[in-house]
Amino acid sequence: MTAAYDTDNIFAKILRGEIPSHRVYEDDAVVAFMDVMPQGPGHTLVVPKAPSRNLLDANPSTFGPLFTVVQKVALAAKKALNADGVTVLQFNEPASGQTVYHLHVHVIPRFDGIPLKPHTGAMEKPEVLAENAGKIRAALGS
Ligand code: AMP
Repeated sequence: MTAAYDTDNIFAKILRGEIPSHRVYEDDAVVAFMDVMPQGPGHTLVVPKAPSRNLLDANPSTFGPLFTVVQKVALAAKKALNADGVTVLQFNEPASGQTVYHLHVHVIPRFDGIPLKPHTGAMEKPEVLAENAGKIRAALGS
């Protein structure tokens, strides 16, 4: 049996403002912020405010607003980082590689010939995250 949603998971804390994040976008239903262990420059997480562990237990009404923002962030991150493409990833339960149990979608700018770094690999410097967040925010605003 799948575990219940934990209201103290790290993304719930970020959504409540109890833990800092480099936010690039927020609306009534969705927040986007930089992944602290990026698989590539500009790696952004798009997170619905509605609580669910992942896609499997989410209310289907979550997906329209969530993927509208995934597209916005993908376009903005591609432009901001001058990328050639964008990988969108989403994991469900430990067997899939999920490590944080609040639904989220990874948006990762991609560059021709450059492989992804490992999932949950090295922590990025805060100043690099802040710089990339600033570029993506600027691209979202234009
Ligand atoms: P997943 O394995 O799909 O559950 O992804 C969780 C992601 O959250 C990983 O890529 C981590 O690098 C990232 N992550 C973990 N803690 C934080 C945090 N405090 N702020 C931003 N990203 C985080």
